[in-house]
Amino acid sequence: MATKTDSFAALIKAKIDKYANKIKKDEVGRVISIGDGIALVSGLEKAMLNELVVFENGTKGMILNLEAETLGIVLLGKYDDIAENSQVSRTGQVVSVPVGDQLLGRVVDAIGQPIDGGKALSSQGAMPIEKIAPGVITRQSVDAPLETGILSIDSMFPIGKGQRELIIGDRQTGKTTVAVDTILNQKGKNVKCVYVAIGQKRSTVVHIHDILEKAGAMEYTTIVSSTAGELPALIYLAPYTGITIAEYWLSKGEDVLIVYDDLSKHAVSYRTISLLLRRPPGREAYPGDVFYLHSRLLERAGRMNKENGNGSITALPIIETQAGDISAYIPTNVISITDGQLFMMTSMFNAGQRPAIDPGLSVSRVGSAAQRGYVKQTASSLKLELAQFAELSAFAQFGSDLDKETKDIIEHGKRIMEMIKQPENSPYSQLQEAVLLFAIKHHYIKWIPLDKITAFKKDLVAHFDKSKLLTELSKAGKFDDKLIEKFNAEFKDFMLEYISAIPDYKAETYGDIKELKK
Ligand code: ATP
Ligand code: MG
Repeated sequence: MATKTDSFAALIKAKIDKYANKIKKDEVGRVISIGDGIALVSGLEKAMLNELVVFENGTKGMILNLEAETLGIVLLGKYDDIAENSQVSRTGQVVSVPVGDQLLGRVVDAIGQPIDGGKALSSQGAMPIEKIAPGVITRQSVDAPLETGILSIDSMFPIGKGQRELIIGDRQTGKTTVAVDTILNQKGKNVKCVYVAIGQKRSTVVHIHDILEKAGAMEYTTIVSSTAGELPALIYLAPYTGITIAEYWLSKGEDVLIVYDDLSKHAVSYRTISLLLRRPPGREAYPGDVFYLHSRLLERAGRMNKENGNGSITALPIIETQAGDISAYIPTNVISITDGQLFMMTSMFNAGQRPAIDPGLSVSRVGSAAQRGYVKQTASSLKLELAQFAELSAFAQFGSDLDKETKDIIEHGKRIMEMIKQPENSPYSQLQEAVLLFAIKHHYIKWIPLDKITAFKKDLVAHFDKSKLLTELSKAGKFDDKLIEKFNAEFKDFMLEYISAIPDYKAETYGDIKELKK
């Protein structure tokens, strides 16, 4: 039996060798029809899938369809001067992009060419944009936190390095802001960042670049930009270019954060291309392989083990929903590929609860393994308290008399919601988060009137920033009984002083002030 398979293999091998000899790289074909960013070409009989071709005018294209008589090619540049019968030649190469530290601080287009007016990039060591994702054997589970600096995320839905966390929500609900704030918070943390704008407005990309530039975050960031007016093929390629740039740093054992803003537009560009190439439409007119499109992209993020450099790529894909419908085709696809989602709720956003992360629908499936000790300890009861609050406040709307316990839970919940409000571009450090969470966990916030919480947060953080306790906590890594005692003592002093300075403060409204005395 063995000899039979051997000889069979040899036969196939010989055939393939002979075939390889026949491939001529200098084949020339002719355009049959052109329009909508797609060219049908005949004559390039030996061309490969995803191969780069060059038209007479120098414009490049990529082969996406291989059919018996014709090839379907997506155009990657200007094509008004290409007509029927124009020449097309093969390059024998697939699309590759420049990589390396030269990309830090740069803005490039969907195929890696600079568009920021800066100097040209060296294409030495350029990497092909399609690659098979690393296998399970080369990976390990997440064990280090990726700090977003956003209190509600780091406490309830922590993200680990190498995790893929989806940001999902309707338009204008603060999705981009969460991602950009996370990039800002990587300053000085040795994490390289790639922001991929997929079919965004040009003004949005410029705005994001300004924010990053002003905060000094461009030093460790690359922006890959494809804007709404560009050819669908470029919008389609942008995320692959982004991950390829990230993979270079991964291969050097570094930590990378990549943001795809957003994959809904990516799916739409792929649908456009597929329909123009006359591929059969499926659900919601998307082609059947749209799931594969996103899974092969997101599988390229992950955490490598020691033998494979120990680097990581953390991915924050963004999906835009219509009227909060997370059960549509593309949202369910991407939810099933990622390790959790942050669900941005329109009603919360409009009510001023920003970031509008819905505590009920959001989840992080792996990140808590990597959460810092002191954050984990202080955040442990938060989700439960918010769930109770959500349930009881719905119940309280019936207006019946509530017992004290229920009232306390509701009042506490309202204050937590105030505590986790956070303006944009103002990340907290992990230690500051621990202080805020400590105030929640030990119910110190109950002494503060609801409308004074915003000011209280600021003053509390400022007070503890000066205290030696944070250095101690940072060294210890987590709270022990002694440290909890010290924090409580410090809190009591602070609270007594703080509430005595609030004008017209009626302590009895909030409880017995004796509790605060030692
Ligand atoms: P789009 O659907 O247009 O991409 P988006 O969901 O990405 O929108 P953003 O652009 O991030 O939303 O934010 C929408 C608006 O809300 C912006 O003007 C932004 O400044 C504001 N915003 C976002 N987050 C906050 C926040 N935490 N505090 C205050 N304002 C915020
Ligand atoms: Mg956005």
